[in-house]
Amino acid sequence: MNEIAPMEQFSEKPVVEACARAPVGLLAELTHRCPLQCPYCSNPLELDRVNSELTTEQWQDVMRQAADLGILQIHLSGGEPTVRKDLEDIVEVAAKAGLYTNLITAGVTLTRDRLKRLKELGLDHVQLSIQDVDDANAEKISAYKNGLAKKREVGKWVRELEMPLTINAPIHRLNIENLPNIIDFAVEMGAGRIEVANIQYYAWALKNRAALMPTRAQVLKSAEIVEEAKQRLKGVMVFDFVVPDYYAKTPKPCMGGWGRGVMNVTPQGRVLPCHASESVPGLVFDNVKDRRLADIWLNGQAFQKYRGTSWMKEPCKSCPRAELDFGGCRCQAMAFTGDAANTDPACKLSPYHEAFVAAAERESAEATPPPFVYRRMSPTKATPAE
Ligand code: SF4
Ligand code: SF4
Repeated sequence: MNEIAPMEQFSEKPVVEACARAPVGLLAELTHRCPLQCPYCSNPLELDRVNSELTTEQWQDVMRQAADLGILQIHLSGGEPTVRKDLEDIVEVAAKAGLYTNLITAGVTLTRDRLKRLKELGLDHVQLSIQDVDDANAEKISAYKNGLAKKREVGKWVRELEMPLTINAPIHRLNIENLPNIIDFAVEMGAGRIEVANIQYYAWALKNRAALMPTRAQVLKSAEIVEEAKQRLKGVMVFDFVVPDYYAKTPKPCMGGWGRGVMNVTPQGRVLPCHASESVPGLVFDNVKDRRLADIWLNGQAFQKYRGTSWMKEPCKSCPRAELDFGGCRCQAMAFTGDAANTDPACKLSPYHEAFVAAAERESAEATPPPFVYRRMSPTKATPAE
C-alpha cells in the first residue's frame, strides 16, 4: 500500500475528498518533440515548445519527489522521449530513487549503444509503439519514412539486451484489418505484452475521428481475433485490449478514476490528472516549478475537482456503478456534451449516447475518409492521407 506522507507537510487542507493513497504511476512527458506525426497522438493540439521544457535538474527533482510520494512506476514518454539528450541523466536519478522506469518510444531515434547505456543506468522496460506492420501503411499513418524497419531493429536490441518489451499498437480504421499480422509481429519481436489499443478520441484523434473510426463490425471482429490469440499465446504474451468507447454500453473508469492512481507531468511542468484534462475548462493546473508534487496530488484544484463521486450529477449520482467507473471520462463528456460533469456519452444511460453512437456509425460508413490532420507544431496544415 502506498500511503502518502503525513498531512502536516502540505500547504493547505484538502478542500473536497482527499485521496488516501499515492498514485501508482507518473507519466512524464519529457518533450512534445517527435519526428513522427501520428494523427491520433494524445498530445494536446497546442504542443509545448522546446524552449519551455523543464530542465534536466527539474525533471530529476520530479523523479525524486515522485519516489518520496510513494509512486512506483515512471513512464518516460513524450512526444518522443529519446530526443532529449539528457534522458540518461533522468533515467539514472529515477532508477536510483527506486522507481520502475518504462521508456515509451517510437524507437526511430534510438541507437543500440544508447539503449545499452540506458539499461546500465537502470532502465527497466521498453514500450515500443508501432503504426502498422505494412511499410507503406505505417509510413502513411506516421508521415515518417522507413519507420517500421527501424522499429524491427529496436525490438531486436531490446530482447538482445534482455529487457522486457511491450508492443503498443494503436488500432483504427487504417490498420484494423492487419491486426492478426500486428499480433504476429509482436510475437516475432519477443514481446511479453501487447497493447491492442483502439483509439481514444481526444486531442488529435478527435480532430481526425472521421478518418480513424472503424465500423462496429470491424471492432467486433478485432475483439474475436484478440480473444483467439490470447488463448493461443497463453504463457507467451499478455494482451491489453482497449475497447473503443463509441461502441460500448458502459464507459471505462477513465484513468482508474480521476485523481486516483495516475499523475501526468507535461514538458513545461504542469501537473494533470490525465493527459487530456487541459481540454476541460475551469481547472487550475499547478506546475512542479511552483508547488511540491505531493501537495498537488493531495490538494491541487484540478485533482480535487472530479475526484471521488461527490461532484456527480444524475444519472451517475444514484447509479450502482458510480464507484466502479466513476462516470467514465470527463474529457469525453466535455468534448461531446459541453459539460465535463455530465455522464460520459459512452454510457447507455447518457441522454447523449444515441448521438454519440450515431456519429461513429455515420463516420465509419463513409467510403472515402477525410484527409488526416497530421500532428504538428502548427495544427492548421492538412495533408492528404493518400
Ligand atoms: S503518437 Fe506518434 S506523433 Fe504522438 S508522440 Fe507517439 S509517435 Fe509521436
Ligand atoms: S450512469 Fe454513470 S456511473 Fe452509471 S454506468 Fe453510466 S457512467 Fe457509470
